[in-house]
Amino acid sequence: PRLYLSPMRDLPAYFPARARIAVLTCEPVGILDYLSPEDGVRQGALVMVPLGPRRVLGLVWGEGKGDFDLAKLRPVAKVLDAEPFQPGFLDFLTRAADYTLTPPPLMLRMATRAPDLDQPPAARRVIVPGDAPPQRMTEARQRVLQVMADHGGASFAPSELAQLAGVGGSVVKGLVAQGALAEIQAPRDAPYPVLDPARPGKPLAADQQAAADSLRGAIAGGGYGTTLLRGVTGSGKTEVYLEAVAECLAQGRQALVLLPEIALSAEFLDRVEARFGARPGEWHSGITRTERRRLWHMAGRGEVGMVVGARSALFLPFRDLGLIVVDEEHDSSYKQEDVVFYSARDMAVLRASISSAQVILASATPSLESWANAASGKYRRLDLRSRYGEAELPDMVAIDLRSEDLPGGRWISPSLAQAVEARLAKGEQSLLFLNRRGFAPVTVCRACGEQIGCHQCDARMVEHRFQNRLVCHQCGETRPIPTACPSCGVEGKLAPVGPGVERIAEEVAARFPDAKATVLSSDLFHSARALKETIAEIANGDTDIIIGTQIVAKGHNFPRLTLVGVIDADLGLQGADLRAAERSFQLMRQVAGRAGRQSGAAPGVAMLQTHQPDHAVIRAILSGEDESFWDAEAAGRQAMGMPPFGRLAGIILSHPDLPVVSDFARYLADHAEPLRDAGATLWGPAPAPIARVRGRHRMRMLIHAPRQAPVQAAIADWLAPVKLPANLRLSVDIDPQSF
Ligand code: ADP
Ligand code: ZN
Repeated sequence: PRLYLSPMRDLPAYFPARARIAVLTCEPVGILDYLSPEDGVRQGALVMVPLGPRRVLGLVWGEGKGDFDLAKLRPVAKVLDAEPFQPGFLDFLTRAADYTLTPPPLMLRMATRAPDLDQPPAARRVIVPGDAPPQRMTEARQRVLQVMADHGGASFAPSELAQLAGVGGSVVKGLVAQGALAEIQAPRDAPYPVLDPARPGKPLAADQQAAADSLRGAIAGGGYGTTLLRGVTGSGKTEVYLEAVAECLAQGRQALVLLPEIALSAEFLDRVEARFGARPGEWHSGITRTERRRLWHMAGRGEVGMVVGARSALFLPFRDLGLIVVDEEHDSSYKQEDVVFYSARDMAVLRASISSAQVILASATPSLESWANAASGKYRRLDLRSRYGEAELPDMVAIDLRSEDLPGGRWISPSLAQAVEARLAKGEQSLLFLNRRGFAPVTVCRACGEQIGCHQCDARMVEHRFQNRLVCHQCGETRPIPTACPSCGVEGKLAPVGPGVERIAEEVAARFPDAKATVLSSDLFHSARALKETIAEIANGDTDIIIGTQIVAKGHNFPRLTLVGVIDADLGLQGADLRAAERSFQLMRQVAGRAGRQSGAAPGVAMLQTHQPDHAVIRAILSGEDESFWDAEAAGRQAMGMPPFGRLAGIILSHPDLPVVSDFARYLADHAEPLRDAGATLWGPAPAPIARVRGRHRMRMLIHAPRQAPVQAAIADWLAPVKLPANLRLSVDIDPQSF
């Protein structure tokens, strides 16, 4: 088979005598000098180096230059046979570290998240389906065979298979002995099937064709560029960017498609297979260790052409990446806010600009950032203005709750109920959307007024009736639902207040007893696979009413769905966050976009239940005048110099003792000359939006600066001389999501 090997873009530097090695341990050690092995070592190579009594993973970062006594340097222990990182990839990681103010070794650790990197790619024993039927089926055996079936033809290490099935190793052995499974020697990293870019795609509509031609031209031309592919929901953006993937593969380069994790659906993989005759490599939290290792190495050797992944796939060591697609680019799951704070959307643009690749940002509701970058000419913009085929965009109507007869404890208005009823009569699906997990957001004591809160966090406990527990959405702590008030001790006076999806499900069951209802909420699924299966069942039409949180908004195709009811359209409109309007607009537009996607079927309807039908955001959603909404949003942000027209960085400090964190925050604020010198302003310190999480008190400062100000350098200067009190955590969030 043809492999995706293209010539090395640049030959990495070679260090015959000594090298600086980034030491990739859990605790950041830094970058240390070592003696090169006898044959020298190349920049970007992975090595094992001695560190104290240990042997640890390291990456060759640069040439050893310090004037240490050579005799005192320790030698590199071993050069691993993973493909050395390309110079362009190292450059990307360095600049990503600079941009996000992350220590380079921490950034490198994200790029080396593959199991057993120090193991050679030797042959290994794997289990594959056998040819004999299983004898004497037991429940445990059944589970093993089910795992094999679920992973369609994949092979597993024996122990991995047993673990996934939740059985002992002897069960697998027994099935092998019978011939129902077979054990074979396989090369450690089996090759990926080759995708064929020359297979014809679906015939495209005129606007799709124009967009596809333009993207193909950009890729064939080589060089960097970013395109905002803006197309209404159901306009066929996927078909268009698959054409760009085809062009990239035809050029012998690799293509990466990023999806919000939850949308890594079987449907998408099927579409890729239909287009190119084989499945792409997959990278997300649901894949096995074997898969993870295989994909990581194959990406580095250029032996996988197309990868579909969640945000961390951006840190795979691709040998020659020619295209990055960020689908649903507005989605907040592209922002990581843990250990390393980064936006995969922005880092995709950085990576592409370094490796002469193209970026496609696809969305029906782009982020204001991307919209502004397209408006200023920094990105190109392509538009798909109508739905593919005969499908029409849904009608959008408001249900004015002020004039509906809605008794307390009920949330589905008569108008919405009637619309659901009509869908049931026609055998069509309805979706009731409420962006709130659980049964009720607040549990209040009617005797003393106490609202039950978390012991660890500044947050209310949320009742989850399906689990029969109260859950803190900040730290995950749970406890049984008490019968007596924990504050005043009075029995039987605790009452749930307000709705969550589970409560809507209860109302649906009472009002439409013959309908089949499915609740789609992330906490109700134990695995990504279970969620995928439910989504596939919905797409097949196996349910009448879907009750869902924001996970239903993410790009799914439910052909029989013709009605979307937004239970509380006002939910996201309040709040001090400047992005509230933008987020609300995107979310409701995306949810509404699930309706009526089937070509030829009746157009869908989206009904927004609201107390404020005249609110600017609600009006913009109803009218469909996106451009004027964005213009207004942009004007407001520009007037205040807020992103994307100005820059922000967030500093979060946390400590178990409030005085420690507030004194230290005060101290930092009093020593902020480097920020002022750079033209930046410091806001705060103030309690963070959630002031206590897992027992740690949190304070936040925001740094506001004009667009061109050297914010990172100023923050680095500011924090460099500071010594943190013991157990105080400080994190820097460049371009925070909420402000
Ligand atoms: P978007 O990503 O813009 O929401 P999709 O790419 O999912 O839209 O397309 C919406 C629906 O239209 C899908 O069911 C898809 O298979 C279908 N579709 C899009 N373009 C074509 C085409 N050129 N030929 C046939 N079907 C198409
Ligand atoms: Zn908590």
